Amino acid sequence: MAALPRCAVRWFLLSLILALPALAATAPHISLAVDATEAPRKIFHARMTFPANPGTLTLYYPKWIPGEHGPTGPIQDLTGLKFTANGSILKWRRDLLDGWTIHVEVPPGAANVEAALDFISPTGPDGLYTGGASATDKMSVISWNTMLLYPAGWTSDELTYEARLRLPAGWKFGTPLPVASQSAAEIRFKPASLTTLVDSPVITGEYLRVVPLTENPLREMDIAADSAGALEAPPEVFDHYKNLVDQAEKLFGAHHYREYHFVYSLSDHVAHFGLEHHESNDSRSEERALVDWQKRLLAAGLLPHEYVHSWNGKYRRPADLTTPDYEKPMQDDLLWVYEGLTSLAQPAGHRRRRARNARFAPSVGVLAAAAGLLRRRCAELALGGHDHPSTNPWQEIPGRLLPPLPRRPEWAP
Ligand SMILES: [Zn+2]
Repeated sequence: MAALPRCAVRWFLLSLILALPALAATAPHISLAVDATEAPRKIFHARMTFPANPGTLTLYYPKWIPGEHGPTGPIQDLTGLKFTANGSILKWRRDLLDGWTIHVEVPPGAANVEAALDFISPTGPDGLYTGGASATDKMSVISWNTMLLYPAGWTSDELTYEARLRLPAGWKFGTPLPVASQSAAEIRFKPASLTTLVDSPVITGEYLRVVPLTENPLREMDIAADSAGALEAPPEVFDHYKNLVDQAEKLFGAHHYREYHFVYSLSDHVAHFGLEHHESNDSRSEERALVDWQKRLLAAGLLPHEYVHSWNGKYRRPADLTTPDYEKPMQDDLLWVYEGLTSLAQPAGHRRRRARNARFAPSVGVLAAAAGLLRRRCAELALGGHDHPSTNPWQEIPGRLLPPLPRRPEWAP
């Protein structure tokens, strides 16, 4: 055998050393089964299996939720925690300094830890965003971050979850999360990173209407309501949402999602907000927000705003808001760009041109003033200022700087 040149041996050893961490550490695959069959009672059950080694397994409940801009993970509604390995119940305790962190004692011989939890979805005004009211007798939104734990030591991009979901009998569903298979009893989703899972809500309900907007790429509205009548909007309403995606494509010139779902809840008994995701938005309005023209007008800016976030806030995001997991705090000093630019850029395909122009044609001076106000207000909020009653300063700005909406548009019925 001929001797290898010394430099080749050095390179081989060096590349071996560099590859060792990757060889030694394989990011875990976690199975997650969510039972939402008791959604009408606002009770959800989840079971997970974590690969584990003897010692301490540290798990997190998602705390800093993207788009919510704060430590809003609803830990107060998490209950029923139980950990087992090889059939034995394990000891666990909550971290003394952080309520979202849980330490589990893994005994010798255990290769996996089974975890079980219950999530109690609140009623009334309690809770923020995905931690707010999310289930009624007729519908629910499954926000995965409320129903799972994840192991410390990995980024949310590195962790892979294989999720399964059971729904109440007869309830339909819509989601951007790719489905592997489904039966009457269960939906199995394709393996996805924790980042994608948390970014992909499922809307489900007895009354669910899927409205196709475009075919290639697929864009659709997945709308669940507390009544069948709430889904019967005039056909032109959906034409306006088709215009919205058309206008956005013209405005941005490209998109970065595989497909897009407007996940829209219509209920007087869920929390009302909009939450952006890369391939969807979780928006929630009053039950008659599509069929009553006044309510429709009031809610008309919601879906365009959340849609723009797919570009500004998801595909592009301030560095301080781009965190490796849901435990590291986010910093909101550039939130004025994230939210302010989105509010000013949102297309208006849902409105007639005259109403849009009256509302969304600010001058350069107005834009500059708005940017300054937004920056100051957001910075004050981030620093904990209490002298301003508004908690949504970017929503306050257009009302101060732009002309008010007409009381009754000429095109209204
Ligand atoms: Zn926003």
